[in-house]
Amino acid sequence: AAMPGTEGGWVRGRVVRVHGLYSYVELDDGRTVRCTVRRVLKSLQVDERSIVTTGDWVWVAAGGDALRGAEPEGVIERIDPRHGVLTRSSRRREHVLVANVDQLVIVMSLVQPELKVHLIDRYIASAEKGGLKPVLVLNKIDLADPVALQPLVGAYSQIGIPTILASAQTGVGVARLRAMLKDRATVFSGQSGVGKSSLLNAAEPGLSLRVSEVSDVNQKGKHTTTTAELIRLSFGGWVVDTPGVRQLQLWDTRPEEVEGYFSELRPFIALCRFPDCTHTHESDCRVKDAVRRKLVSGRRYYSYLGLFNGVEE
Ligand code: GDP
Ligand code: ZN
Repeated sequence: AAMPGTEGGWVRGRVVRVHGLYSYVELDDGRTVRCTVRRVLKSLQVDERSIVTTGDWVWVAAGGDALRGAEPEGVIERIDPRHGVLTRSSRRREHVLVANVDQLVIVMSLVQPELKVHLIDRYIASAEKGGLKPVLVLNKIDLADPVALQPLVGAYSQIGIPTILASAQTGVGVARLRAMLKDRATVFSGQSGVGKSSLLNAAEPGLSLRVSEVSDVNQKGKHTTTTAELIRLSFGGWVVDTPGVRQLQLWDTRPEEVEGYFSELRPFIALCRFPDCTHTHESDCRVKDAVRRKLVSGRRYYSYLGLFNGVEE
């Protein structure tokens, strides 16, 4: 009879890192197994590089002595279907960076660097694009007056996006952040210097994340552009650590897709007169009408226009 978590001699685990031909799989008992991929799985894939990705849930053959010894080894026999895929688009295709991610934590700092409100909606759109739940963290409130932020926090709460006022320095908001991270797989994003590493280190003391960041810009064409790594949290859940992801321009996207990333516009889009309404120049547009009637935030609509028109940051 199969033991819990095993199936036909296979054990379930999660790919925490991919390096060359090897995938490193963390099993439920905490051991990390260095794995190759069964040849028959490879033959099903067009793109060899994305057979297995960090974040994949997989089944590993655990027969014989494979899992004993100092560096246990195994063979990946099966890959579970993916959800919440974080991709990076290059000119030719979408490349999967991390699979099975639940949420995108968008970290902004109030000062040093100053708050860039217009960036928030771009990060939210990239979360929506990847099927990730956005969470907004406004950090460094020890350096600013949080009262002035109430309208902003209110606006995002209204469209269902949790917003945490935090300080990695004083610890304010860290317990709420920890509760958000618990039992989920999370990617942190935000500009350099906003406090992503500091917040993570505050949420999980003992986690000494690298603070320096590698810019993705000059690495085009290199084989190992980005290597995402999953880190298990002691209180349950996972965070994705990759300097590449943090620096990504995640919002590269086609204009006609943009409306789908502003979920609060959906009810109005459905009522627009023309099915292909772009909600820009058309007369008789229910979205523009909703903005006029203040049912939708004008700032959010302005962000929509910016993304639709492909305005670069
Ligand atoms: P990252 O680049 O987003 O990972 O940012 P870091 O975590 O490396 O932090 C950048 C700088 O901001 C560091 O000097 C931190 O000490 C500082 N910092 C981070 N969080 C806070 C905070 O809440 N308050 C203050 N005053 N400084 C912070
Ligand atoms: Zn419209």
